[in-house]
Amino acid sequence: MRTFFESLLIVVLASPSAFAATNKPLAVYFIDVEGGQATLFISPSRQSMLVDTGWPDHNGRDARRILAAVHDAGLHQIDYLVITHYHEDHVGGVPQLAALIPIRNFIDHGRPVQTDALTKKLYEAYIKARSKGHHILARPGMRIPVRGMNVVVLTAAGSLIGQPLAGGGEQNPYCPAKTQPAADRSENAQSVGVLVSDGRFRLIDLGDLPSWPGEYNLMCPTNRVGQVEVYVTTQHAYAESGASFLVDAVQPIVVIADNGAHKGGDPEALRRVDDLPGLKGFWDLHYAFSADKKLNTKAPFIANLAATPDHGYWIKLKAYPTGVFTVINQRNGMTRNYQPR
Ligand SMILES: [Zn+2]
Ligand SMILES: [Zn+2]
Repeated sequence: MRTFFESLLIVVLASPSAFAATNKPLAVYFIDVEGGQATLFISPSRQSMLVDTGWPDHNGRDARRILAAVHDAGLHQIDYLVITHYHEDHVGGVPQLAALIPIRNFIDHGRPVQTDALTKKLYEAYIKARSKGHHILARPGMRIPVRGMNVVVLTAAGSLIGQPLAGGGEQNPYCPAKTQPAADRSENAQSVGVLVSDGRFRLIDLGDLPSWPGEYNLMCPTNRVGQVEVYVTTQHAYAESGASFLVDAVQPIVVIADNGAHKGGDPEALRRVDDLPGLKGFWDLHYAFSADKKLNTKAPFIANLAATPDHGYWIKLKAYPTGVFTVINQRNGMTRNYQPR
């Protein structure tokens, strides 16, 4: 016969509310901002972190799409906004978003390296919005204190973590014999890159970090990151990022591409993803018109098929600390479950 306490335990464990309290997923919305970036993370403790805000203008299109995702998650503020770098497709949407919803903490790499008029204008508008919240300067190795999930800064302002993360530190067999000179000295090379994890689930997002020197320094000769479940294509799947020494070495189970219809999605970068031996799922925010049908992932896994203007469907991911995760295409409800390796 059960004791009173054993019976009580069974009731507590079997009740749906107890199940929900211990099994809240980490949710991620990959929001379509037409070839820019806006990725919204909702921690199991219901705090939010947004990585980038898409473009300015377009009557606040990208800010409204972000707001729709925040509301879909049942939240009403951005707890942490990470600005990877000061390009228009990443920082441009900040003023419009800040007009719609409170943003508490702003994380960035510091002052821009580009001195052109557009960058200056974007930075000034960003600083104005940032002054209403709390500023945190991103430094490699630091943790962004989102409650309920682990966020580590891997790269910022051209620097990177000195020590490998737990699970990293192995020699990387995909490193080339010869190095190449840095091809991109723009804001891209300053990108704040993060690793987001909850238990066994790990996701990497490096903003627009170019392969040379950024991805190379992070991954060669030792892989400082280790393996990940999900890789968000660096720089919208342009050929200048997402080198084999990154994507092959982190061995993602799922890749999410954030190219636009006519921005990023280079054949070379898509081919590197298609060729990944352990890949179980390839999802894309947009059909890439710069590549042919064979290199694009299959239509059911693409959120937006036509050229702009489109509906702006998102891809949503739910991950559990066991490493089990689910990906959903908002356009057609296509859902796939993935097991940890
Ligand atoms: Zn970009
Ligand atoms: Zn950029």
